[in-house]
Amino acid sequence: MSVAEAGSDAPGDFIRGIVRDDIAGGRSAEVVTRFPPEPNGYLHIGHAKSIVLNFGVAREFGGRCHLRFDDTNPVREEEAYVESIKTDVRWLGYDWGAHLHFASDHFERLYEWAEHLVREGKAYVDDSSADDIRAMRGSLTEPGIESPWRDRPAAENLDLLRRMRDGAFDEGARVLRARIDMASGNINLRDPVLYRILRAPHPRTGEDWCIYPTYDFAHGQSDAIEGVTHSLCTLEFADHRPLYDWLIDHLPVPARPRQYEFARLNLACTVLSKRRLIRLVEEGHVAGWDDPRMPTLAGLRRRGVPPQAIRDFAQRIGVARADNLVDPALLDHCIRDELNRTAERRLAVLRPLKVVIENWPEGRTDMLPAPNNPNDPEAGRREIPFGREIWVERDDFMEDPPRKFHRLAPGREVRLRYAWLVTCTGVETGADGEPVLLRCTYDPATRGGDAPDDRKVRGTIHWVSASHGMPAEVRLYDCLFSVPEPGASGDFIDDLNPGSQVVLKGCMLEPALARPGEAPVQFERQGYFRADDDSRPGRPVFNRVVALRDSWAKIQARGG
Ligand code: ATP
Ligand code: MG
Repeated sequence: MSVAEAGSDAPGDFIRGIVRDDIAGGRSAEVVTRFPPEPNGYLHIGHAKSIVLNFGVAREFGGRCHLRFDDTNPVREEEAYVESIKTDVRWLGYDWGAHLHFASDHFERLYEWAEHLVREGKAYVDDSSADDIRAMRGSLTEPGIESPWRDRPAAENLDLLRRMRDGAFDEGARVLRARIDMASGNINLRDPVLYRILRAPHPRTGEDWCIYPTYDFAHGQSDAIEGVTHSLCTLEFADHRPLYDWLIDHLPVPARPRQYEFARLNLACTVLSKRRLIRLVEEGHVAGWDDPRMPTLAGLRRRGVPPQAIRDFAQRIGVARADNLVDPALLDHCIRDELNRTAERRLAVLRPLKVVIENWPEGRTDMLPAPNNPNDPEAGRREIPFGREIWVERDDFMEDPPRKFHRLAPGREVRLRYAWLVTCTGVETGADGEPVLLRCTYDPATRGGDAPDDRKVRGTIHWVSASHGMPAEVRLYDCLFSVPEPGASGDFIDDLNPGSQVVLKGCMLEPALARPGEAPVQFERQGYFRADDDSRPGRPVFNRVVALRDSWAKIQARGG
């Protein structure tokens, strides 16, 4: 495939425009991107935007995308996060091939380059405390103050840097700083710290190092070592770009990556910062990183969201420079779109109400055929047992309904999906006035639910045979937060949605759901559901992935 072909059907965002121009202008012979997570938490749907962009651009332009862990802070990072991140990227459908990298693989080279800067008079060892360095940094309106150690001779700096590496000093006693400009309007250029002493073992390099490069020193150079051509990152790094360029200008790097910034994904009623997600987990507001309400990829996967829906979502939100807040209804819409095509249909009653079909013979069971997926004939069909006693949805009955209620009510006829037309002939209520049992008769001439021409039967409801139904727990989810921007006025924890999880027990499933698979299914008339990891043999637990009602399509229809 030629490059022009690859690019021509690609989405036309500004990043792809730049890449296309770089290829056309001969600035890039090949396209190399990278996804650079710090292994200090689980990936979330914001990261998915970056993954889909980086791997997508590489794929479209016939290049490659690396997975690089920016593991420069051993205090916060863990090997377990590395594994979870690899799992999540693969699950999303991407493959880094041989290009799994770690910033820590480059520690030796980065250190050599630190010495290079020192020898060139471009970096110095500063004995000031962290507090003093902060105090001397100045502010957006005031210039910084030069450190008293700024003009140390290169030889002395080199000696101190080597002793820092050898472990001669305590943690925090000294740092290596770039020697740039304390009066710069860009605070990132005010002699930023390049190395600090951290007496912490590293998950990958163990006890080899007691000094570690800062993210700012490691990031651009790692890109250069790996031959990354297009270093795509979120907008908060735009102000760091002059520093990255300065470092590349002053180091003997083998290649020159170019950085382009795009807006991060902000999702309404959701938090996407790791710091906040960690708090949700540690304070027990959710059941863990993979709680189905979490915006983590682990949570979305457990809930039953297909990776294709997340890729589709990332394509639809696009890539731009302006910040915005995306409506989670768009993600729901993408999920429905995908599952409507792929999910098999099943009957399940979430809030069961017993019905006795009085003219159905005792002990008789009929097996009724039903298509697994009306959108996919290949999915075949199954047979659902029907008997004298069935469960229907409590909400599908009203004792005294308005005219437009096309479901069950005394004297009204309704279609039982794939079965017969039934008429309600009586209701038994409990002490609280709530119905506990309905009596119905069925019309034997309507097998399959076909109504004779002279009978208008508007309503169709779902059901499960009482003697074959499989009891189950079903968990319904809503947004974790009840306001669009959690924490906008106070602690974000105060904005948690108390109704974000509703657990229903004693739901009744058709027997085909007794041994649920991995794939989500549609419970007809209700939504898409997937068996939770908490399921046990004979005790299925289902998560609602998304309800059927499509508020997004309605908003669109209204032209909003
Ligand atoms: P957080 O703010 O959640 O801690 P982070 O940016 O510190 O995220 P990293 O592990 O450093 O997390 O991120 C890896 C990559 O993912 C970076 O290139 C970052 O820009 C990108 N990324 C992180 N959050 C988002 C987001 N909400 N939208 C798009 N890209 C994101
Ligand atoms: Mg980060």
